[in-house]
Amino acid sequence: MSTVGSRLAAVRSTLPEGVELVSVSKFHPVEQLREAYDAGQRIFGESRVQELLPKIEAMPPDTRWHFIGHLQRNKARMIVGRVDLIESVDSVELLMLIDRLAAERGTVQRVLLEAHVAAEEAKTGFSPGAMLDFFAGGGYRSLQATHICGIMGMATNTDDEARIDADFAALASLLARCQDAAPDLRGFSTLSMGMSDDYPTAIARGATLVRVGTAIFGPRG
Ligand SMILES: *Cc1c(COP(=O)(O)O)cnc(C)c1O
Repeated sequence: MSTVGSRLAAVRSTLPEGVELVSVSKFHPVEQLREAYDAGQRIFGESRVQELLPKIEAMPPDTRWHFIGHLQRNKARMIVGRVDLIESVDSVELLMLIDRLAAERGTVQRVLLEAHVAAEEAKTGFSPGAMLDFFAGGGYRSLQATHICGIMGMATNTDDEARIDADFAALASLLARCQDAAPDLRGFSTLSMGMSDDYPTAIARGATLVRVGTAIFGPRG
């Protein structure tokens, strides 16, 4: 088995049933994605549009793509309808733009809203308050061609395990509160959290989708 294949198998063996794995392949060459594909992996995560598009062309058609990076408004058009899930919708404006593009294209785009609970200032995403306001205000009801499937978030980049655990607990609680605020929103249950260093903690806190790069593909160059 390839190195990627055996690392993938090792990660998979730690996932409980019902937790989906996104293999985060950003900055890695297509050859490595193929090794993962040949080992049965189908969902790949990419964070840059210009890197994603050639990879879509190069990989088999049943490969599923998750966009996980900051999506600039002027690039949304290039990926709407081409990726299975946009995990990183970080503003209402971007959400509305995606909806318009998906409607134009006659497709339904699945998305997650990105929540910001980590300590770092620079991270993008909705604050918990802004996200709750969005759902409580019923803003999702005007969407015509977008399905909000859940939320995505990251823990603080720290060695402090208690802080990481608290961030994941906060994300899980935020999803529960948004679900309570939007009881008519169906299929709103995905909780995407956890990366190579912290995904077991995320799973213990209820992650349904984990995004693992380095533990599968090795360090990024
Ligand atoms: C790069 C990235 C990951 C994967 O990180 P690893 O530490 O390599 O597992 C997960 N989520 C997002 C949003 C990323 O940008």
